[in-house]
Formats: sequence, C-alpha cells, structure tokens
Amino acid sequence: MAGRLKGKVAVVTAAGQGIGRAIAEAFVAEGATVHASDLDRAKLADLKRAKKAKLDVCSTRAVEAYAAKVGPIDILVNVAGYVHHGTVLDCSEADWDFSFDLNVKSMHRMIRAFLPGMLARAEETGGSGSIVNLSSGASSLKGAPNRYAYGATKAAVIGLTKSVAVDFIRQGIRCNAICPGTVRSPSWEARVEELGRSVGGADKAMEMFVARQPMGRVGEAAEIAALALYLAADESAFTTGTAIPVDGGWTL
Ligand code: NAD
Repeated sequence: MAGRLKGKVAVVTAAGQGIGRAIAEAFVAEGATVHASDLDRAKLADLKRAKKAKLDVCSTRAVEAYAAKVGPIDILVNVAGYVHHGTVLDCSEADWDFSFDLNVKSMHRMIRAFLPGMLARAEETGGSGSIVNLSSGASSLKGAPNRYAYGATKAAVIGLTKSVAVDFIRQGIRCNAICPGTVRSPSWEARVEELGRSVGGADKAMEMFVARQPMGRVGEAAEIAALALYLAADESAFTTGTAIPVDGGWTL
C-alpha cells in the first residue's frame, strides 16, 4: 500500500541515523513531503527525496527559525534523544539537565513552534495533524537498570504526550508516543561496545541486550517506523494519547 501519506507534510528530527532515518525513509516512500533534520547535517547526505536541514533541537532560536522556514505541517515526529548510563549516584545535575533538555524540552520546543501551523492546516484542510514522540520501554512502563535519568525523561515524554493529546483533541490534532525496546541503531551499537568493556566482551554484552526481549532478538528501526507511519497516517484517526510499546515483549 503506497501513498498512505500522500499530500501530507512531515517534519522528522534526528533523521540522520537509526529510528529517525527509518521513519523519514518510510514517510518518503508513502508519498509525504518530508523535512528531515539532524544536529549533524552530514548524516543526512544519502537520504533521498527529503528536504534536509541541520537542526539542533536544544536551541529554541534554531527551532523557531526552522518552523518559520518550513511553514504549516501535518505530521511532527520528535525523535532526538540521548541515553545517559547509570544510577542516580552517577547522574550529576548537569547530566540531568542535559538529558531533560535533549529528551523532553526539545519536544516542548518543537511542539510549541509547529503546533500553531498544524492547527491552521487542520482547520483549513478539514484534515488532522499528528504528533509522534519517541519515548521508550524504559519510562513509566518499566524500570531499566542504569537508565535513571533516561527513564525519567522518557516517562516525562509520555506525560507530555497525553497532555498535548487531551488539550487539542477537538481541534484535529492527535499526539501519541512510541515506546521501543532494544532497537539496532548506531548509538545502540556504541552502547553494546561500552557494556562489553565491563562484562568481558561485545558478544557477552550483545547476549545481555538480546536476553531482555522475551522474543529473543533486538528490534529493527524499520519496525519502529512501521508504527510511526500508522500513527502519522489517517488510518489511526481514532488513536490519541497512547504510549505504545514495540519491544519484543520487554515490558510484558
Ligand atoms: P541514535 O541515538 O543512533 O541517533 C540519534 C540521532 O540524533 C543522531 O543522528 C544525532 O546526530 C541526533 N542528535 C543528537 N543530538 C541532537 C540534537 N541536539 N538535535 C538534533 N539531533 C540530534 O538513534 P536511535 O538509537 O534510533 O534513537 C532514536 C530515538 O529513539 C531516541 O529518542 C531514543 O531515546 C529512542 N529509543 C531508542 C532505542 C534504541 O534501542 N535504539 C530504544 C528506545 C527508544
């Protein structure tokens, strides 16, 4: 089924690699006009048929300028996020502030900047706007070891998602969160290497990550993109305020 997003304009942050990249590619393939951004513009180089830009989602000024340039949109996917490793005792105030700035406040910035245009477009077209936020199984769904700050930020993402959903439910805007389990991506591969240094090798670390999923494997970015596509498209028109796990049974 191609063309599920035909006529839609979408913005995807952190589209340079991993889940963001898979989402941008899926949206392009389904006919959307995709504005793909990343902090590192070079990572977008081989992304085809998208409008590409450097965007630091931690900069309010940059986000506002980007929204003004892009104009009204139908779909906003907030992907950018960072995994702080450790317990509360490993988390300085600076670590906490950075994690919340990149994982949560970035979504606040993006939604504040793009929502007025989304509302105007929804009213004008009689269509609907969709916001999709990347949370995690490590959130209010599940406590994960050594994911203290990360789990707190991703729980906040679920709260933010529900708050936006309830406030704009009658104005044609939906807002949902995706809660992935372990998904293969460049930053996850770096986490495997890092864990490997303390548990006796990358193979052992890989085994530990795989063991978290009752399905016995890690997920692929395309499997997260499939849900993002559903939530972005009109076929999910009756779905808002949800936090949906895609995690091989990790949060079961
Ligand atoms: P990744 O961590 O491999 O890549 C992150 C991308 O974000 C990079 O391209 C990087 O350049 C970009 N980025 C970093 N700081 C940025 C900033 N300030 N502004 C804009 N872009 C910035 O990607 P991933 O592992 O696919 O993770 C994507 C999202 O999915 C994150 O929010 C992550 O927390 C969430 N998630 C990932 C997993 C997983 O196992 N991979 C699991 C659950 C949730």
